[in-house]
Amino acid sequence: MLGSAPSVLYDNHGRPLEYLRLAVTDRCNLRCFYCMPEEGIQYLPKRELLTYEEMERLVRLLTGLGVRKVRLTGGEPFVRRDLVPFMARLAALPGLTDLSLTTNGVLTAPHVPELARLGVRSVNLSLDTLDRTRFHRITRRDELPRVLDTFYALLATGIQVKINAVVMDGQNTEDLVPLAELTRDLPVEVRFIEEMPFNGGSHAAPTAIPWNYRRIREHLEQHLGPLLPVPVPAGATASEFSVVGHLGRIGIIAAYSRTFCGTCNRIRLTAEGGLKTCLYDQGVLDVRALLRSGAPDELIVEALTSAFRHRAADGFEAEQRRPLHQLSFESMSTIGG
Ligand code: SAM
Ligand code: SF4
Repeated sequence: MLGSAPSVLYDNHGRPLEYLRLAVTDRCNLRCFYCMPEEGIQYLPKRELLTYEEMERLVRLLTGLGVRKVRLTGGEPFVRRDLVPFMARLAALPGLTDLSLTTNGVLTAPHVPELARLGVRSVNLSLDTLDRTRFHRITRRDELPRVLDTFYALLATGIQVKINAVVMDGQNTEDLVPLAELTRDLPVEVRFIEEMPFNGGSHAAPTAIPWNYRRIREHLEQHLGPLLPVPVPAGATASEFSVVGHLGRIGIIAAYSRTFCGTCNRIRLTAEGGLKTCLYDQGVLDVRALLRSGAPDELIVEALTSAFRHRAADGFEAEQRRPLHQLSFESMSTIGG
């Protein structure tokens, strides 16, 4: 169902545009401490979210520019109605070779067989702890059992599972080793992510993070032995490691330190149709306005191409260019992490 790769567009720093992260909603059924405040964020009115038709048109235009991989995210993708039929439409687009999603796993388990049928090969499952009490404290919802159901359903269908765990000082550092231990007997990748400042005002943005990629690695090595670097595909954000005797892999994502910008091949569309050519920019193009103005495909392609050719060199430059500097005003739920 998924097609073959088209030609690729390069940005002003020689990086290919290959990968779109598409936030299908800003709504969520969890309230993760690092993503949004306890009371939630002010959700966009429904009419301000891109419709499935608008998203499909954009993905079609972007595949024409060389995008071959799309990851659906949010908010929680499965909170939006009719997600799977939408995915089926995307999977049928020529040029798209890789369709995947990032989910918190609360509503996902019943859909896993359909995902496998659509050709979804990999799912990122967010899971910051295996301890029910800490899960409840971090996400402010008691949903660990349903997330674990999704985990086991994915394993059973053979879809590759990448667990995303945000590392937070004082919240879940005791969980790093138990999570990493999952890789001993299971063919999963457990990826530890530096906490980023996009928390929708949940708490003040950290000016430095006590648990950066170096400390995470040192901590894991103290308990598991050496983490042996393994080659990763161009554009990957995670540094990946194997551990002697472990079936799976460990990843570390320096999302705050931004060590991977030099090869970044991704763009984002926020739930309200804003184009981000860097996670740290404030949105460089209002794609929704363009779509709803009745612009023809050629004009939209021109605007997307131009935005991509004016990309910041890295996340630090993108942050500098923001008219509004407080990153914590944004939530990953709107951006699409
Ligand atoms: N709701 C889905 C989920 O949680 O998997 C998809 C959206 S969520 C915004 C995507 C990813 O962003 C999750 O893996 C989450 O852990 C990560 N994330 C959210 N806020 C973050 C933050 N402040 N720092 C680092 N990662 C964050
Ligand atoms: Fe929801 Fe994902 Fe944000 Fe948690 S990280 S609040 S699951 S959008």
